[in-house]
Amino acid sequence: MKQEIKLRIGIQKSGRLHEDSMKLLKECGIEVSNGVNKLKTEASNFPLELFFFRDDDIPQYVEDSVADLGIVGENVVYEKNKKITVVEKLGFGKCRLSIAVPKGENYEGPAYLSGKRIATTYPVLVDRFLKEQGVEAEIHEISGSVEIAPGIGLASAICDLVSSGSTLFMNGLQEVQPILQSQAVLIRNNALDPERMAILSKLLFRIQAVKKAKNNKYILLNAPNDRLQEIIGLLPGMKSPTVLPLAEAGWSSVHSVLNENEFWEIIEKLKDAGAQGILVVPIEKMIV
Ligand code: ATP
Ligand code: ZN
Repeated sequence: MKQEIKLRIGIQKSGRLHEDSMKLLKECGIEVSNGVNKLKTEASNFPLELFFFRDDDIPQYVEDSVADLGIVGENVVYEKNKKITVVEKLGFGKCRLSIAVPKGENYEGPAYLSGKRIATTYPVLVDRFLKEQGVEAEIHEISGSVEIAPGIGLASAICDLVSSGSTLFMNGLQEVQPILQSQAVLIRNNALDPERMAILSKLLFRIQAVKKAKNNKYILLNAPNDRLQEIIGLLPGMKSPTVLPLAEAGWSSVHSVLNENEFWEIIEKLKDAGAQGILVVPIEKMIV
């Protein structure tokens, strides 16, 4: 019997990306038995094997074909600079890689860093930034707890991942210069064979449907018939909105899809145009 081909995906074993990565697969309808203490597990209803790795190792493993795919932060992808392909941004694990200096320091631009020592776990990205800016500074690579470096006199600036900024604040630092915006991405080996590419397309189709659904809301509202055209004009929809007569004469029910980015603005305008009973419902999957 021919052995079934499976895609092998590298996922962070534990840490900030683990849960969202598993959740994404679940939202794609992929069932995985929970066995995170193991090195690997497999999906019961999709040709996928999951390997659990440290996030830093994932680009290398994907380059070396230990795994076909991986989910990892862009910060790690661009720091490691391996020969892999970024397939899709996944919309979670959002953070930025930023330069921070002690509170009260007057940072007026990258020239401030000239001749200073910067502690970081991202020497490649910091070096690239300094070169782009034409600034010469010393990069001091450390493996963890970068935020304490200025306090103990090890460096006068740091470059680290930030999401809320509270860790910096607690360590007497201020974020002064973002150098990279990052989120989790799906990466793949550069030389997948056609059979594996076909499985990847199926997975990607599901991921894109989940992502679109998250960015969109289903909206239902009641519109007075005399302002129906105005209200329909406000709704972008996928094609055109569905309009159904209500039991009450002179009113219609309008259904459509709204993008999160334009959501609040359009809701305001709909209310002003006389829409009532506006219901906003999450969408589970969206295939367009
Ligand atoms: P591992 O044991 O796998 O090496 P780690 O300690 O290097 O884990 P985590 O702190 O779990 O990594 O972060 C994993 C990824 O989560 C980061 O590389 C980054 O892409 C993303 N991330 C999102 N927000 C933040 C944040 N505020 N601080 C650090 N990482 C963040
Ligand atoms: Zn790591």
